[in-house]
Amino acid sequence: MSDARAELACETCERVTEHELHYAGRLLESVRCTECGSHLELSQRALLPAYVHDLEQRVTSKPRRLVHRAARDPRGFWTGLPRALARQPGKFLREFWALVRR
Ligand SMILES: [Zn+2]
Repeated sequence: MSDARAELACETCERVTEHELHYAGRLLESVRCTECGSHLELSQRALLPAYVHDLEQRVTSKPRRLVHRAARDPRGFWTGLPRALARQPGKFLREFWALVRR
């Protein structure tokens, strides 16, 4: 997890305020207005497939081959994915749980 700050338009304050951006890996997970505390979570359903896609890009140097494998044998692909993640367990698991445990 990492955080960043940015000036964004807040719907509650109705003006541009400083926002905290919370990331899981390189993907934006949630945004919080530092003025009013209004909190915007990015939908888990929308986020997870994007995160898994991002993860594939990071764990393999051959993303195109992975995509072909997924199309030919989706079940084998998904059962094989945890093994790829297991090579770099701590970092990815923490990011993954940050998305799933809410
Ligand atoms: Zn606000």
